[in-house]
Amino acid sequence: MESVARPECLVVGAGVVGLAVADALVRRGARVGILERGARCGEEASAAAAGMLAGGAEATGADPFQDLCRASRQLWPGWAAELERESGLDCELELTGLVRVTASEEVALELERKSAWQRDHGVEVSPLLDAPQLAQLVPGLGSSVLAGLHYPTDGHIHSHRLTAALVAACTRQGVAIETDTEVVAIDIRASRPRLSLSGGRELEADYVVVSAGSWSGALMPASAAGQLSVEPVRGQMVALDPGRQVLPVIVFGDHGYLLQKRSGLVLAGATEERVGYQSWPTAEGVGRLVTAAIDLMPQLSQSRFAYAWAGLRPHSADGWPLLGRTEVGGRVLLATAHYRNGVLLAPVTAELIARAVFEGSDPPELGPFSPGRLA
Ligand SMILES: Cc1cc2nc3c(=O)[nH]c(=O)nc-3n(C[C@H](O)[C@H](O)[C@H](O)COP(=O)(O)OP(=O)(O)OC[C@H]3O[C@@H](n4cnc5c(N)ncnc54)[C@H](O)[C@@H]3O)c2cc1C
Repeated sequence: MESVARPECLVVGAGVVGLAVADALVRRGARVGILERGARCGEEASAAAAGMLAGGAEATGADPFQDLCRASRQLWPGWAAELERESGLDCELELTGLVRVTASEEVALELERKSAWQRDHGVEVSPLLDAPQLAQLVPGLGSSVLAGLHYPTDGHIHSHRLTAALVAACTRQGVAIETDTEVVAIDIRASRPRLSLSGGRELEADYVVVSAGSWSGALMPASAAGQLSVEPVRGQMVALDPGRQVLPVIVFGDHGYLLQKRSGLVLAGATEERVGYQSWPTAEGVGRLVTAAIDLMPQLSQSRFAYAWAGLRPHSADGWPLLGRTEVGGRVLLATAHYRNGVLLAPVTAELIARAVFEGSDPPELGPFSPGRLA
């Protein structure tokens, strides 16, 4: 397909993914508009995220998904610096490192094997560490911790600050952001894709990028809905205030993780629940998170309970993101279903989707994530 020199692009959804894609498109010279249903940008899954940049701890194999996570992790420092320069806002990027710890002998053996294959594939990870070695990295770990791995290059950002920086950068570069604007249908068969908005308005563009998080599936016509099923998976989080610095690195345990923001708040996450579009925290979920947090780090038991929240992670049928052109049409692209790693994957997603628009076809790196794989 031929590319358009200065394409007009509409991005549906102003979470971290849609904003990052819009930023990448406008930097390359596209005319970009974002349509966001909410009153403000980034209020759904992106507002709930702990902001970890940590693909290695959750990787289950040496596969294209792990490669995508690594590629994005490598982009992060430069991407954040450029974003901060453009927006004038600090995203609080902290490359603290992460320890994946376990209280189970069986999991310890798995971690030992994982360290070996990850190091063979270029992941920066330690060999299996015992409890005294882990205590040197994180004083105050719970006594049930037996062993773990150290990922020294992982880190985290402040997800609300990231959204604010993306909105500021997009606005400064001329992206038109329309909030309170819901897209109700996309006609992907038209020569230029056409969007129907609530209230009856219609818009056309050279390209449309769907980044509507857990609501992306509902936007596609019935023929494509099968390949685009995106299910919400609720994640609950709590914030605790221990009143001092207690966590030099992210601690990722068997039943939850802990990280401390610059403000001093410790975030403890996260549940994983298939409860449809119920996006609120529950007494049971909060109780479980607090128990897991105190188990990982007993000194947190006397922390002030700050607050709890929840968000809906967008999950595809196989758990990998949906990235690139839909089969029909060729001018509607998906950038969605990033599930637990949308913040980590924002830079690489933005880069690859912008290339897909400007190069006129999807770059080969998008192959494993093509929506067509689930058709
Ligand atoms: C508790 C929790 C912790 C997490 N922690 C991490 C983490 O540490 N690291 C990490 O990388 N990821 C994490 N994630 C995952 C990450 O938050 C998501 O993968 C990411 O935010 C998805 O971004 P998005 O822009 O695709 O979706 P969203 O942020 O959900 O944004 C989609 C946007 O589309 C809008 N929209 C929907 N439908 C329409 C429509 N029809 N018309 C117009 N607009 C529409 C919505 O209003 C919304 O603003 C976490 C998620 C949760 C819930």
